[in-house]
Amino acid sequence: MADRIADIWGERTPHAKGTVWPARVDLHLDEGLGEGDVDRWVQSACVLCSNGCGCDIAVKDGGMVGVRGRATDVVNHGRLGPKGLYGSTPWAGSADRLTRPLVREGGHLVETDWARAMGRIVEVSQRLLAEKGPLTHGFYTTGQMFIEEYYTLGVIGKAGLGTPHMDGNTRLCTATAAAAFKESFGADGQPGSYTDIEHCDAIFLFGHNMAETQTVLWMRILDRTRGEAPPRLVCVDPRLTPVAQEARRTGGVHLAPRVGTNLALMNGLTRELFEHGWVEDDWVLAHTIGVDELRRIVDPYSPEKVQQICGVDPEDLRRAARIFGESENVLSTVLQGFYQSHQATASAVAVHNLHLLRGLIGRPGSGVLQMNGQPTAQNNRECGAGGDLPGSGTGATPSTSGSSPICGMSTR
Ligand code: SF4
Repeated sequence: MADRIADIWGERTPHAKGTVWPARVDLHLDEGLGEGDVDRWVQSACVLCSNGCGCDIAVKDGGMVGVRGRATDVVNHGRLGPKGLYGSTPWAGSADRLTRPLVREGGHLVETDWARAMGRIVEVSQRLLAEKGPLTHGFYTTGQMFIEEYYTLGVIGKAGLGTPHMDGNTRLCTATAAAAFKESFGADGQPGSYTDIEHCDAIFLFGHNMAETQTVLWMRILDRTRGEAPPRLVCVDPRLTPVAQEARRTGGVHLAPRVGTNLALMNGLTRELFEHGWVEDDWVLAHTIGVDELRRIVDPYSPEKVQQICGVDPEDLRRAARIFGESENVLSTVLQGFYQSHQATASAVAVHNLHLLRGLIGRPGSGVLQMNGQPTAQNNRECGAGGDLPGSGTGATPSTSGSSPICGMSTR
């Protein structure tokens, strides 16, 4: 059985560029049990981070006794990290886990049955709707439901009750991801796939300590960097994380900007693409608007200027830009180091700009993953259970305002 505490990422299954990520099944059962002791396996998914790994739950005598990764799942190909393998067992049997609904009586929560709890919700909702209308209602949604449930919720909230007050767990990471997508592409949808890892020549991780936040996705990258024709990594993070160490090991770069200076760093990288002609002019002309404005905005951000602001060695900035500029296919991922920082949306949009300048988007090995902290945060937004209407929030118009702090490049 796997020990994902002592060995977080497990043994490597290296493979070459363009080949399928090999399966490796991780398994954990309660002490003393073997696979032959399990009565049945129930298909499920780990929802403890945004990766959403497929798993089967082992059941014995009506109780949960373990977990194994599902080899055929497109996300994890059988692997599980420490949280997926061990996280569910303690709380699944925990004595203080809620098994019945609670309602507040005189300031205290007391147990009740489902009919009474739901009846109270209906009664209060009907009274508020009659007295004050639909704006009395608001929803703050989890990031752990399934797509059909989100869609139903969106219909109940917007089409049924008629309230626009729906926030889909978007306060932290997903707010920036959604805003950046709409700013660049006019729609809140991911222009990338995990399978891009198998086809790329370079991976840029912007504020994303994937090794410790999405451990199974990091296994997927490690299996490329340890295989034939590995990608080079570029890590943007003030800390010397395992991602930063792997970036150095692969001949890539670790850029460690001062906290709060991400946008200046991105302006410097963007300027380098213009300076060295790493721009697909025909593609940019055919598919984007605002490139001249972008060039004007980033022009002051020479590597030396960036060093003054960010404390990053100008040669490191040049090397990172060269990797982006000269690699055939580049995958970028973004997370909290960019989202929960100064000028978050503008910095996330700047990642899109790099890809748009080189036309590195929408083809195998080239894309952007604006990652989220919860597994179905994207579904939440796509189905209208967040701030937008169903259908990936389409209807938004990309900004073309040069005065916006968000550099004015976006898709046509
Ligand atoms: S990577 Fe995320 S989804 Fe996969 S097992 Fe670990 S916590 Fe669960």
